[in-house]
Amino acid sequence: HRARMEASARRPAATRDGRPVAVRANTGDCESLRALEMDACDGIGLFRTEFLFLGRSCAPTEDEQFAVYREAVTRAGGKEVIIRTLDVGGDKQASYMGLPAEANPFLGLRGIRVCLERPELFRTQLRAILRASLFGPLKIMFPMVTSCPELACGRRAVESAAAGLRAEGVAVPDRVAVGVMVETPASVLLCDRLAAEADFFSIGTNDLTQYIMAADRMNQHVAALYDAAHPAVLRAVAAVARAGRAAGVPVGICGEAAADEALAPLWAAMGVGELSMAAGRIGAVKAALRASDARALESSLPGLLACRDGREVRARLKTRLEEVT
Ligand code: PEP
Ligand code: MG
Repeated sequence: HRARMEASARRPAATRDGRPVAVRANTGDCESLRALEMDACDGIGLFRTEFLFLGRSCAPTEDEQFAVYREAVTRAGGKEVIIRTLDVGGDKQASYMGLPAEANPFLGLRGIRVCLERPELFRTQLRAILRASLFGPLKIMFPMVTSCPELACGRRAVESAAAGLRAEGVAVPDRVAVGVMVETPASVLLCDRLAAEADFFSIGTNDLTQYIMAADRMNQHVAALYDAAHPAVLRAVAAVARAGRAAGVPVGICGEAAADEALAPLWAAMGVGELSMAAGRIGAVKAALRASDARALESSLPGLLACRDGREVRARLKTRLEEVT
């Protein structure tokens, strides 16, 4: 079984009716980066950069960061790497940054909010990422975006960091793709507007589920509410996929829901073209995608979106998948 899974992981994935889905790896530390089997994935769909900043007494230098980003891009061997800019705040605190103690850290200063408040910190990271982009295809993604001006400020920071590097004689590519991590309800409700300004979307279902359901992702007492299969979350994903398609903006999912093999065929049916997950999940998700018929499932979408809760969605989806496979 294991050998079969490993062989399955190496082949690219498409649904039975021929809809290709890029299956990528999430990584967020050097160990998992070095352990990645690049044969098995279509690149790195989420490179979390927090590990470089946590558990130390000062921020990492540009060169320190550059070395790690370059390693990620080099290891990817020509496949695309999506680097997420710093997402501290919330549950992840770096004491040297002197961020305020907050009553509701998940609703506080985190993600791109921190970066826009600390231009030097942001600039250093962006310079390191842009320098790494000389070593292979790379995209930049901002976490916790809630509006077009935030994306525009982020993009301006990228452009200004690139201009600075060029002035120093570093041949930064003309254009590095800048995308939105769709993980706030605001970014879902504004997805048509954001799609006009973003180069790509990647849906962060971990945070998006917690914010849509108003259920802390780490609180056991509300764990039953925290379900990415809840119709409210499904409607959000479907809306983002639709807006992306209308604007020609690629849409992926990089939260845990991408790795849920029961849901992966549903994401493909919605038109999500990329799923990024912990490397160990890739074989199982590819197998589930290959066994599914995206077009047949698409016709079931209205019924699934009209379900009463996540449990009903999962039950219906299971029946439907059995019918069409
Ligand atoms: C997410 O929110 O879905 C996500 C992938 O990011 P993180 O788990 O790092 O918040
Ligand atoms: Mg998140």
